[in-house]
Amino acid sequence: MAANDPGQPLHPSTGLTTNWSTNLPTPPSALAIGAHPDDVEFGCGGLLAKWAEGGCTVHHLVCTDGSKGTWNPDVNVAELAARRQDEQRDAARRLAGARAGEVRFLGYVDGELDSDLAARGRVALAIRELRPSVVLGHDPWKRYRLHPDHRHAGLLACEGIVAARDPHFFREHPVPHHRPDALLLWEADEPDHAEDVSDFVAAKLRALEAHESQFESTMKAVDHADLDRFRARITDRLGALGEPHSMRAAEVFKLIDQL
Ligand SMILES: [Zn+2]
Repeated sequence: MAANDPGQPLHPSTGLTTNWSTNLPTPPSALAIGAHPDDVEFGCGGLLAKWAEGGCTVHHLVCTDGSKGTWNPDVNVAELAARRQDEQRDAARRLAGARAGEVRFLGYVDGELDSDLAARGRVALAIRELRPSVVLGHDPWKRYRLHPDHRHAGLLACEGIVAARDPHFFREHPVPHHRPDALLLWEADEPDHAEDVSDFVAAKLRALEAHESQFESTMKAVDHADLDRFRARITDRLGALGEPHSMRAAEVFKLIDQL
């Protein structure tokens, strides 16, 4: 292939193309939609911390109750779900401080999320009520993704925007329609947008570490040395993502701004 073909990968290992964009202006408000408590922090925690520092109000919408997030077969799932809500609220405060907005939970059972019409209506209602300028979510088209909740949460973010923006969808909603300016998908199958989070890696880690119930199953951290290795893994990953863009650390996304 010709090196200058627009959109063609120039660097096979990074998928770096000629038409990447970087660093959106800080929006007045953002809504991050995750399948489980902690998904938002993994997907876009650095960016949300950066935007919050710039004055953006940061809202969270978590689709499931996170009740499968343990390796302990004897856990009380109601207690785990309640604990994970507390952890999510703490993480939201750690990310955004005074700019932390609402933290909402749809409460679907972990592992059983479906992108059906009822769920789409609930996501659309949240978008219409919170009126975010930017929505962030999982890329539902990530190839070889196994976890159904991540796929469905991604679809709900995309389809929820379509329903929220058009006035004839869900006319029973008590609030007017709302069209966000942009959608950013994390874990993107074809990322084309990088955000410099060099100064916000620590904030992302602090927010991730609010999810103490996940230390064993997700962070693989049962002691301080493990936690240090987890921090190093995340830091290294963000550094590698930033390198092609001359950033010390980056989070990368698929940007969709024709909404
Ligand atoms: Zn998840």
